[in-house]
Amino acid sequence: MRTRGFKFHHTFGVLFVSFILSFQLNCSSPTPQEQGRQVLEDAAEAMGGLETLRGIENITRRGNRQSNSLGQARVTAERLLIGSPGAYTQIIDFTVPREVNLSGEREIITVANAARGGYRDVQGRALRPLEPGQMEGYQKEWDRDIVKFLVHALGSESSIEGYESTEVDGQPVHITQVRYIDGTLYKITMGHGSDVISKLEFTEERNPYGDLDKERSFSNYLEMGGLTLPFTETTREMGEVTRMLEWTEITINQDLPEERFEIPETELSIRERAQALLGADTLPVEPTELAPGVYLGESVSMNNMWVEFDEFILVAEGPNNERQSLEVIRQIRETVGDKPIRYLVTTHHHADHTGGIRTYAGEGAIVVTHANNEEIIREILTRPHTLKPDLLAESGLEPQIETVDERQTISDGTRTVELLHVPNAHADGYLAIYLPREGLIFQSDMLSILQGETGDPVLRPYTREFYDAVVKEGWRVNQIVPGHGRIAPWKELADALKE
Ligand SMILES: [Zn+2]
Ligand SMILES: [Zn+2]
Repeated sequence: MRTRGFKFHHTFGVLFVSFILSFQLNCSSPTPQEQGRQVLEDAAEAMGGLETLRGIENITRRGNRQSNSLGQARVTAERLLIGSPGAYTQIIDFTVPREVNLSGEREIITVANAARGGYRDVQGRALRPLEPGQMEGYQKEWDRDIVKFLVHALGSESSIEGYESTEVDGQPVHITQVRYIDGTLYKITMGHGSDVISKLEFTEERNPYGDLDKERSFSNYLEMGGLTLPFTETTREMGEVTRMLEWTEITINQDLPEERFEIPETELSIRERAQALLGADTLPVEPTELAPGVYLGESVSMNNMWVEFDEFILVAEGPNNERQSLEVIRQIRETVGDKPIRYLVTTHHHADHTGGIRTYAGEGAIVVTHANNEEIIREILTRPHTLKPDLLAESGLEPQIETVDERQTISDGTRTVELLHVPNAHADGYLAIYLPREGLIFQSDMLSILQGETGDPVLRPYTREFYDAVVKEGWRVNQIVPGHGRIAPWKELADALKE
């Protein structure tokens, strides 16, 4: 009897426990995935419903933009070059997808088209096709546009990976983690007295920093024609505000201005180049021999130069990104052979001119920079690159840096390269790179005459500072080899400054 009785109780106990468990699972305690899904669904509902969001084919936003460039400050102690706020229009057609941006009063245009590539008007001076990295950036923004974010986050190609809730000032705050369609892990914040998304946090690969923490917050949600959309969007990178958008007008599913989306046909075949660069896994680099063993490597927006010595190669500037660096290295091997790349000299610390230096460090090159930049260059060379490991991350090499104060000469008796510190208002710790025998000077940003640019060269206050420093040093320059744009005779600069 006792045994039976025990057995009975045991069976009852198991049943009872499973009943309680299933009750908790099904009724009182949803899983974090279910909770996360619920708050995302509530957010979609608060914006006008998932079906309405799905039905958005295009969106036009007009207002103001303030853009601050990361890694472009004059001094290395600051992260940002603060831009001036200006009018900004964004027209996105999600059906292709494709986008038109119009900046400032002059409505300087950029067009990106997932099927045709893109182009931008560089400060109203010249047209340039968009590079693969820039097109990838557009694709990411189309995917995570706030009107499409919840459609994708709740779709079958994303997965909800976590949920937690807290209370801030007596209001519930929900944080849901979603592995998004492009593989990015988003931490989504909702709550603070409303159901809509207030913040997205994520980590993304970005040159030259590697794994970069980003945060985008949305506020000023307003109702318009059945939708409730944010009119303010603020992006932070490395904790700094890099972009602030304040819309004054948003319209949905309008007739699109087709002519704005056109990529013009120009003498430099911009339409063809835009198409060719779309999805390309390499960047074109055109080598030009400037003197025996000295080459300019010209790419879409950035250039560099390589110089052959008896036993090694010196590279002036490692711009843009690894895509460009790998192609430059391939061109170096074709033009001057297999000598080791011993030195990579940077002109200044700006992110566009240092975005490719890691690749050379991964080849074992010593990065030569002005003493002022040592810390920022070390940061670039040692930051984590786990999302998209590059050559340096995979090489396991210890990066080497050599600093220059006022002057340095690199010579092997047959070839000489001289470095000079040029103080200027563009960037602290600037080096000009001079080949005395060849009469060549490599510089970035002091004078940039873009491909296809017409009219007088654009002179900045620092263009004269650069010119004066070179003249004072007694360097006799024939040709200026630029980090952006085309080669220019020294006389062209001298004449332009005289006027
Ligand atoms: Zn610069
Ligand atoms: Zn530049």
